[in-house]
Amino acid sequence: MVDVQIARRGVRDAALLDAMRTVPRERFVPDGLAEFAYEDGPLPIEAGQTISQPYIVAAMVEAAEIEPGSHVLEVGAGSGYAAAVLGQVAGRVVAIERHRELARSACARMSDLGYDNVDVREGDGTLGLPEEAPFDAILVAAGGLEVPDALQRQLKIGGRLVMPVGGPDVQTLCKVTRVAKDRFEQESLGAVKFVPLIGAQGWPEDGRRAA
Ligand code: SAM
Repeated sequence: MVDVQIARRGVRDAALLDAMRTVPRERFVPDGLAEFAYEDGPLPIEAGQTISQPYIVAAMVEAAEIEPGSHVLEVGAGSGYAAAVLGQVAGRVVAIERHRELARSACARMSDLGYDNVDVREGDGTLGLPEEAPFDAILVAAGGLEVPDALQRQLKIGGRLVMPVGGPDVQTLCKVTRVAKDRFEQESLGAVKFVPLIGAQGWPEDGRRAA
């Protein structure tokens, strides 16, 4: 999967490619779907959510320019797979998930796999984690109409945030770099489709309009 679906599509970061070879994706998918774990597509997980397509995980991690000492926030931990990959290339990762059952099982997986630099918490990630900020990088694995201000303000100067931005059906993967205290530069990385980012600075629970 890594050679054919990820490296061949342009992901070059050697440490990231090694991380994707190392993290056992079959441990992050529901029973009965393990045989599909190394196909390059999203899969359903509990609570009506998805584990992201491996290529998209790789593209987001590469865009976020993670280094061995990086302090990283992931919003939308889901199964915990992307957080586990991040944990292989960063110094410390905190991942937030709004569904309790997902947060608990992702947490158990980190413990079972010995990924002790990855901390999974339950909560509304649109507010970030002020007590852990600032972050070198923030990855948001769910789509919102705009980048939550609370999140971009938890970046270090020079920090990067990668997030799908747009309507409920299709979004643009955006990279925001905090170039100065009050200056943020944004670039588009292409079209993607993610589940909605639901929370105080995202979509409301019923999904009809942005909060
Ligand atoms: N990174 C995940 C993985 O590797 O399995 C994929 C996550 S899935 C595409 C997006 C996740 O974002 C869902 O589990 C959803 O519940 C979560 N989510 C949506 N809004 C959220 C919020 N405000 N705070 C935390 N998690 C949120």
